[in-house]
Amino acid sequence: MFSNDLLSGQTAIVTGASRGIGRAIAIQLGESGAEVVVNYSNSPQKAEEVVQAIREKGGKAYAIQANVAEESDVEKLTKTVLEQSGQIDVLVNNAGITRDGLLMRMKTEDWQAVINLNLNGVFLCTRAVSRSMLKQKKGRIINITSVVGLMGNAGQTNYASAKAGVIGLTRSTAREFASRGITVNAVAPGFIATDMTKELEAERILNAIPLGTFGTPDQVAGAVRFLASDPAAAYITGQVLQVDGGMVMG
Ligand code: NAP
Repeated sequence: MFSNDLLSGQTAIVTGASRGIGRAIAIQLGESGAEVVVNYSNSPQKAEEVVQAIREKGGKAYAIQANVAEESDVEKLTKTVLEQSGQIDVLVNNAGITRDGLLMRMKTEDWQAVINLNLNGVFLCTRAVSRSMLKQKKGRIINITSVVGLMGNAGQTNYASAKAGVIGLTRSTAREFASRGITVNAVAPGFIATDMTKELEAERILNAIPLGTFGTPDQVAGAVRFLASDPAAAYITGQVLQVDGGMVMG
């Protein structure tokens, strides 16, 4: 069990925190004592519910709308957080979408939408928080990638490319920021039960998961909480931590 002052005095931004994995991450970071910025795009009510869930457990949180694929929204988001909280200690780049289809038939706009949010969004948010993290010589950046970025997946060339890109971005940023006390790691979930996966054929996928079940958002959030923690994860940077029930090994 983690102590509830593990992240006290720290501010954490979680992108796409109104639902699914981001929601669980926001709640666990809130339980650990961080003030959590619950970012969302289209679901103000759901984001407010996450804020309330954190406050009911004695934590601190507020919601901010921003499309993290848009540079001006990201700049506004970080400016508001710095004005309101004074610092940014943890950034979790979680927001993501899928627009699946076989490559031959994939529409250019579906390719671009996924790259814009799942890869460009991670770049924009990382760059935006880096100024203040570099100044304070301290920070944790945790990027949510996917096992699909490691192994590929038919029907998801856009998504797999973005998620593989996030791994390259994670490792390169980890090298750039290491001397300034900032760690950058990725968490690669396998199949997790959320809105994103509710349409998938469960039986075929379950056969490929040694642990035999889909994961839960809380199980991914636990890995993120670990990577945000100090000193437990202070010597880990540039890594990809898989939370996938053993789907991809080696
Ligand atoms: P989800 O249930 O579909 O939730 C997506 C979240 O992203 C929502 O909070 C949504 O906010 C937010 N979002 C969407 N577009 C956004 C934008 N332009 N700007 C800011 N926020 C935006 O997805 P999930 O399953 O929790 O996935 C979360 C992350 O885990 C994604 O990066 C996904 O690729 C990754 N992942 C998921 C799985 C899985 O099996 N579920 C596996 C591997 C990796 P609104 O509610 O406001 O739209």
